[in-house]
Amino acid sequence: MKIVIVGGVAGGASAAARARRLSEDSEIVLVERGPDVSFANCGLPYYLGGTIVDRQKLLVVTPERLEARMRLDVRVRSSVESIDRQAKTVRIHDLESGRIYDEAYDKLILAPGAAPLRPPIPGIDSPGVFTLRNLQDTDRIKAMLDSNIQQAVVVGAGFIGLELVENLLQLGIDTTIVELQDQVLPPFDKEMSTPLAEQLTRRGVKLLLGESADRFETTETGVVVHTKSGRALPAQLVALGIGVRPENKLAVDAGLEVGPRGGIQVNDSLQTSDPNIYAVGDAIEVQDFVSGEPTQIPLAGPANRQGRIAADNVFGREVRYRGTQGTAILGLFDQTAAMTGASEKSLQRSGIAFRKIYVHPANHAGYYPGAEQMTLKLLFDPESGRILGAQGIGGAGVDKRIDVLAIAIQAGMTVFDLEEVELAYAPQYGSAKDPVNMAGFVAAGLLRGDHPQIDVATLMEQSPEERPLLLDVRTAEEYAAGHFPDAVNISIDELRSRLDELPTDRRIATYCQVGQRGYLATRVLMQAGYDVVNVSGGYKTFRLFNPEKDSAGN
Ligand code: FAD
Repeated sequence: MKIVIVGGVAGGASAAARARRLSEDSEIVLVERGPDVSFANCGLPYYLGGTIVDRQKLLVVTPERLEARMRLDVRVRSSVESIDRQAKTVRIHDLESGRIYDEAYDKLILAPGAAPLRPPIPGIDSPGVFTLRNLQDTDRIKAMLDSNIQQAVVVGAGFIGLELVENLLQLGIDTTIVELQDQVLPPFDKEMSTPLAEQLTRRGVKLLLGESADRFETTETGVVVHTKSGRALPAQLVALGIGVRPENKLAVDAGLEVGPRGGIQVNDSLQTSDPNIYAVGDAIEVQDFVSGEPTQIPLAGPANRQGRIAADNVFGREVRYRGTQGTAILGLFDQTAAMTGASEKSLQRSGIAFRKIYVHPANHAGYYPGAEQMTLKLLFDPESGRILGAQGIGGAGVDKRIDVLAIAIQAGMTVFDLEEVELAYAPQYGSAKDPVNMAGFVAAGLLRGDHPQIDVATLMEQSPEERPLLLDVRTAEEYAAGHFPDAVNISIDELRSRLDELPTDRRIATYCQVGQRGYLATRVLMQAGYDVVNVSGGYKTFRLFNPEKDSAGN
């Protein structure tokens, strides 16, 4: 068997290594256009910021190591230019010698990745406008950073854009973000991204949301980014992080099927429309694990696993790719934002019914020093309770909870299962009721009708006439420090003795800081015959939706 693999980084290198482990006899040719294989794309921003000091560390495996250990035929600086499906050959251009030759294959694996988007904005080819994909891009940006630049503009506040921003700030560079959406980290629901936006502003980043770059003007001192609303932003470095497009030219030219957004179409064995050709990684269209819809999710974990699975299938192991959940994480200074599965907005787009809850637990026991609060948002099926998605924002421990929830989604678990999951606990690591259990208790209680709830978003959409009476059950001090507009305050400890102050002919919405005392108040009032709901996630959730409100909530 002779396998040719196009692309030698995440998906391609994984496929090659797996293929060798499965077959000592095969001939495996790994063709990579760039000078490096298997480099750490995900580490590039941290090398730019100086956290990773040694460039060599980004070269996870060298071609020489792959040749020696895995007996692969690695051809770097070699570009596959075309595929002849009838002859089962690829045409390779050796970019160093200029030689062009054909290489035969029995099975071909395409792992060409995705290229950063560079839309035809006037001036986009200015020398100061960069994208970041590989070590060569990194070297160019690093050279610019080493010239002691003062100002940078990052266009796009997605994962890579924000990682770049963090690293630019680390270098003391005055940084502006230009983002088309009205939020940072657009895959997240907007309210869950609020703490990131607040942190960026606190750290001096100029955050221009709902704004776009219209034109780049090269000047003597660098580049000026002209925005749609008429701003002129001078900078020495402009970094574009506005998404990627699948490198599908080879596939398209060879007549392989691609989806509407350009991803190479594959079946669940990762086989393209030609059974002798497989495709993996950022270049392919995948099935969304939750909605079942075709989508493109460029992440390293899926690319690596797909590489492995494609190699398995080449050798007759019938391993199926389950689809991509989009489990992703961002570190921004001391904050962590992570998500898995569907977001509220993606469920809305797909027309999938859902319910949601917010909890704000601490990452570990509150009495043990150093506890940090997080916010978890859980989305689930309103009938079965099947978990559809989760997002977390906070400090320590967000990663662990989202990973647990990622497994729960993949296992098809429900919110009732989350009530029962048994997780490791000692005070410095968690709580006897882990945040994952807490999310399960709240969501399952909601579905069981133990505590009817109302979302902050729904409350805010209601007119004052239709809105329930808002009952703040926190202490008078907490109430004074900020509360929902028009809320009345009866603390939970006084509630039972002051029930007669509450109307029996109007719905009451109780809330506290995070939802827990509000839950207790809901139970008290329900059992006393009141029409009551709890505001999901309490005042803290209100603040996520209303970051601009002052401390009195007005
Ligand atoms: P790639 O890793 O891009 O490899 C494709 C390779 O194919 C390229 O080297 C290209 O030169 C080569 N190639 C293309 N066409 C040809 C051809 N015709 N002939 C020969 N060679 C060809 N993901 C995460 O999950 N977490 C992160 O923290 C994260 N951080 C990232 C940070 C940055 C700066 C970048 C750029 C990406 C990051 N990603 C992250 C995304 C992740 O790196 C990609 O999803 C993953 O590398 C995709 O793997 P791939 O094999 O499909 O493509």
